[in-house]
Amino acid sequence: MQQIGLKKLSGQIVVKTGLHIGAGNDKIEIGGMDNPIIRNPLTREPYIPGSSLKGKMRSLLEWHLGKVQDNKGKPCNCGKADCPICRVFGSANNSKDSDESKESKEKHQTGPTRLIVRDAFLSAEDKKKMDDGKAIVEEKYENSINRITAWANPRPIERVVPGVKFDFELVYRIINTNDDGKTDTTNFDTVVLKALKLLKNDYLGGGGTRGNGRIDFINVKDETGTAIEL
Ligand SMILES: [Zn+2]
Repeated sequence: MQQIGLKKLSGQIVVKTGLHIGAGNDKIEIGGMDNPIIRNPLTREPYIPGSSLKGKMRSLLEWHLGKVQDNKGKPCNCGKADCPICRVFGSANNSKDSDESKESKEKHQTGPTRLIVRDAFLSAEDKKKMDDGKAIVEEKYENSINRITAWANPRPIERVVPGVKFDFELVYRIINTNDDGKTDTTNFDTVVLKALKLLKNDYLGGGGTRGNGRIDFINVKDETGTAIEL
């Protein structure tokens, strides 16, 4: 196995409907809200973790390829050379170096994980807005209705407002597995670009079925500077 190429995709993610990527409840501050978004702890700027983006791409593609049923709802972890999911996104079986059993050897035929998704940081334009004191985050109240009393039970969730942009970058390795890198080259289109297209029609973060988290990709280009249409 030898790495023979590197692809790069960069561009911007535009928030179309309020985006909520939760920080988790271990980070509640006194007097803070109970549904905060994830932020850089030093600058307080919201960002999109690479793991959130990659996890969503992977899950949409597993649904698309009909892998969800086979794995009883868990991520595919087969590690087989012909599995586009494990090859591109990685599998826990890739790293079992100590296990020399025949079954294990068959399981790490995929080689190293091809796709690296970087954290997507707030665009320069929106950083400036934030510095100028303009709101790029809102608190939205979502109601649940008590079935007996019919009283609304509002709870606040924090969201990045529509129009805010994040700079994203993906890096993709092309490895020669006795095929001159053909499998990885094809997978870049049918797996990576396909997952981004699926994401445009889905949502990122929490509350997607209630209208949150619609996004778009703009100014996307590859490592040669060629524009890529998603
Ligand atoms: Zn797999």
